[in-house]
Amino acid sequence: MKKLILFLTVAAIALAGCKTEKLTEGNYDKQENDKLTYTNPAPYETVSVQQPGGQKVKNVILMIGDGMGLTQISTAWVANQGKLNLDNFPYTGVMRTYAANKLITDSGAAGTAMATGQKTNYHSVGVDVDGNEIPSLIDLSAAKGLSTAVVVTCGLTDATPADFLASNPDRDNEEDLAADFLETDADFIFGGGRRKFTEREDQRNLLDAMKERGYAVAMTWDEVKSVTTGKVFAPITDGQLPMAPERGTLWQDAAMHAIDLISKDEDGFFAMLEGSRIDDCGHWHDLPALMGEIYDFDQTIGKVLQWAEKDGETLVIVLADHETGGLTLLDGDIETGYVEGHFSSGGHTDIQVLVYAYGPHAETFTGTFENTAIFDKISSVLKLQ
Ligand SMILES: [Zn+2]
Repeated sequence: MKKLILFLTVAAIALAGCKTEKLTEGNYDKQENDKLTYTNPAPYETVSVQQPGGQKVKNVILMIGDGMGLTQISTAWVANQGKLNLDNFPYTGVMRTYAANKLITDSGAAGTAMATGQKTNYHSVGVDVDGNEIPSLIDLSAAKGLSTAVVVTCGLTDATPADFLASNPDRDNEEDLAADFLETDADFIFGGGRRKFTEREDQRNLLDAMKERGYAVAMTWDEVKSVTTGKVFAPITDGQLPMAPERGTLWQDAAMHAIDLISKDEDGFFAMLEGSRIDDCGHWHDLPALMGEIYDFDQTIGKVLQWAEKDGETLVIVLADHETGGLTLLDGDIETGYVEGHFSSGGHTDIQVLVYAYGPHAETFTGTFENTAIFDKISSVLKLQ
């Protein structure tokens, strides 16, 4: 029986790897009430780090698990046999995620609140409720002379990266969002969605335009790695990056490479790293694929924490923009890594999400607060305003 479960799990992971379409609320039609099961075929060891003693914050790394609610984390913890790198964070807080005009948010409004400090309308990206552009943590950090990076597993014009790098009242105007990249000063930009920069209605090739702006445009991981100085623009896939089993350690490596590059800046840096596809798996009600995405995200957290421990002046924040799927953890076994779950929604929910903080000033991320407080707290420790 165990072998059968293992086989089914591996088969499910393989199948999940084939999915590349981004599903959002509107086009989700799966109506099942089944209990889903999963057994982790390869539980991994986690790192152990100590909270640094100093109070100076030179760098901030914000890690967003898109759609990663507390149940997603709890389920991943049981299935990894009672351990996650997330366990290291000494401080946690609770965050409300609702949008300005809608209780159930999308990534556009949720990410905008965290990136700019203002709640905005559902589907808005980097603009206030009246549609005015507002500067993001990336813009303000760059203006202050800090180095900056955005590293995601989705398309670069998808909502969360766009919240930090672009602005538009409607996240679906992806070609317009791509054109906004010609104004960003971010130093390292890595993700998918190349098509929006090359196959455009206006016939422009924005990759050429980014080159003219002084960016090294990298189309493959080898090209990304070969850049050791200067600005990098890396839309390395046409659509989103492949799912976790297929992409291996690509996103982990890209995140750490970004940190290597931007940490050369004596003034410090701000980085936004997103495990974007955790959200897709919630929409799909795909428990094995969901666990794969969270494990890729958590393993990156382990590497980031080890880097931050060595550095001593880096604040690391891990959170979700909202919960996706209304996941319930029904049963499981910590010893065998077996879990039973059930999804109650095809879209997002308004369940409050956890915020984890490590490093100097991490203690300020405790209590219950709005998603806009993420901007306030980060801009305060980096003295951006
Ligand atoms: Zn989201």
